[in-house]
Amino acid sequence: MVAHVVPSIHTTSDPTYQTALHQYDRAVSYLNLPDGLVEFMKWPRRELTVNFPVRLDSGETQIFTGFRVHHNTVLGPSKGGIRYSTHVNLDEVRALAMWMSWKCALVNLPYGGAKGGVIVDPRAHSLMELSNLTRRFTSELIILIGPKIDIPAPDMGTNAQTMAWMMDTYSMTVGYSVPAVVTGKPINIGGSAGREEATGRGVIVCMLEALRQQNVIKSPKDISVIVQGFGNVGSNAAQRAYDLGFKVVAVSDISGGYYNKNGLNIRDMRDYLTKSPTKSLEGYRGAEKVTNAELLELPCDVLIPAALEGQLTGENASRVRAKLIVEGANGPTMPEADDIFRDRGIMVVPDILANAGGVTVSYFEWVQGLQEFFWDEDEVYRRLERILIRAFDDVTATAERYNVDLRTAAQITAINRVAQATLTRGFYP
Ligand code: GLU
Repeated sequence: MVAHVVPSIHTTSDPTYQTALHQYDRAVSYLNLPDGLVEFMKWPRRELTVNFPVRLDSGETQIFTGFRVHHNTVLGPSKGGIRYSTHVNLDEVRALAMWMSWKCALVNLPYGGAKGGVIVDPRAHSLMELSNLTRRFTSELIILIGPKIDIPAPDMGTNAQTMAWMMDTYSMTVGYSVPAVVTGKPINIGGSAGREEATGRGVIVCMLEALRQQNVIKSPKDISVIVQGFGNVGSNAAQRAYDLGFKVVAVSDISGGYYNKNGLNIRDMRDYLTKSPTKSLEGYRGAEKVTNAELLELPCDVLIPAALEGQLTGENASRVRAKLIVEGANGPTMPEADDIFRDRGIMVVPDILANAGGVTVSYFEWVQGLQEFFWDEDEVYRRLERILIRAFDDVTATAERYNVDLRTAAQITAINRVAQATLTRGFYP
């Protein structure tokens, strides 16, 4: 008999997917799970690639490529953002979808994990072109999204407006309004209070929890914070840290890094950004300009990478001077850097815990939408904090039990929840 060779997607050359798979292999090695179950949870459940035309303002038509991956749906409908970036590729989306499965399980949301993306530079297109692109992409995805199937949300390069177009396109197709098909919507069409700030706010909840566990007794003004990235996650994390009195000494965006050892005025920087014709911090005064690479190596107490994947590597990890790293981005730390941080005693609060505030308030938004009953901001933040602190405690308990770092502990906790749910349900047929 000829052996049936299954083509494996696990031999990827994409560094983000390599990182996700490496983390998975490491975490499951601590769990005594059947081989078939370990293999099952490693694979994405379904994947869709679409190539679709978009009419540009010039009258010309351009073809774009997009993806949606449902990684695991054992715990419920799949959940995860849509990313617009020139770097998007199927393997990256697979990695991000897998991390969504673990993230949702870690904070006990009744969701599986998904992610999507379109290969596009959103800054290079007008609002009309982005609307056309989003609507056509949504219509291509209609066979696998829905309030009980798969619920998109914003991610890098997308925002509340993108979600409004997706919600409208879906609703026009089915013939009635379905706010719960996406989260991260504008509040006036069923979005939740606090969703815009949720990820950044959650990052700071985790930072405070980590400082408490490290027995740091300094007052906030003596604790310096660096934030890489000034998008939704980075700017809201920087803002929250600044509002709580922490000394935010450096931030960065696509125009580079901005450093002031006495502390930056984050409110002023956000104001500057909203008025900037380049949609960046380019030209901001009141700070010394540094490169993105330099920013990661500046002296500080806390480093919050809130930009891209793969920023902390085997090459630069030994020069990082932070004592605590709180991951606002998904996958900012490569496995080699994780090893170096572990050896150097630098605590890393991993992405699936640190940035879970976003999907947690997405869940609140979905629940509120389905019940057509809305909560105020205080209620949202109170519930958010409770969920994140409980997840943090679960992770530290697992870290102690298995004597592992927080990332491995977070993954062990989350993967085991998905594993146990799968065993309870059993495989079909
Ligand atoms: N894109 C965000 C993340 O990576 C949010 C996902 C969501 O709210 O569904 O967690």
